[in-house]
Amino acid sequence: MMASPEKHTPFFNLIDAVNSGECPVCYRVSLRARQFFESLLYQNVNNLELRAELRANGGFCHAHAHELGTYNDGLAVAVMHLELLEASERNHGRISTPRLRPRRGLFKRGRREPAPAGCPVCRVAEEQAANTISLVQQYGEDTEFVTAYHQSAGLCLPHYERYLNRNRKPSQAVINHQRQRLAELIARTRSFIDSENATSHNAPTLSREERLVWKQILGQYYGKAGCSPCTPTS
Ligand SMILES: [Zn+2]
Ligand SMILES: [Zn+2]
Repeated sequence: MMASPEKHTPFFNLIDAVNSGECPVCYRVSLRARQFFESLLYQNVNNLELRAELRANGGFCHAHAHELGTYNDGLAVAVMHLELLEASERNHGRISTPRLRPRRGLFKRGRREPAPAGCPVCRVAEEQAANTISLVQQYGEDTEFVTAYHQSAGLCLPHYERYLNRNRKPSQAVINHQRQRLAELIARTRSFIDSENATSHNAPTLSREERLVWKQILGQYYGKAGCSPCTPTS
């Protein structure tokens, strides 16, 4: 059976993301970040443009620096950071770049382009997040999307907020599912707290999964690590 002509790879990538068991935006963003790091580590450590971006920003943001660390590529970290450490030394140990300032401060009045660039991984992650939120918007009423979405984890709270902010007519299916998921999380959170506070003779027996609700709280309330900037740009 052929796909209808208006549905192409982006739609099917969206459905895969919806079926991933995670917030579909976090899922696509973390895939994109992984792609970025893999390409950086296997081909591009000496990419001049990227190195200039890192110099301009004083390195990666905190979350993405530690994500880079999970690849255990010591030499790549060392090569990319030697010049940043030397720049700090020249600046009496301070980071002389905008990395630690709010992102908003990077934009000059009347200019759309950041000057200079922020964390390069945040940049590609942001493009991916905006793109995926647009697709949720575009297919919000599509039957195939809605069917998959009803079975899904829904959006994390930061990405849901961005979806609402970008969308004057949000999909009722997305809103209803989000409300339901939030109500379920609240109920599971209450029941976990109750079980922890209960005395041994009346403590309800929770499954291992029910006892791990705190992981779901962190994932749903904050989104996946490194997938939502502190100051979203859109
Ligand atoms: Zn998310
Ligand atoms: Zn970053």
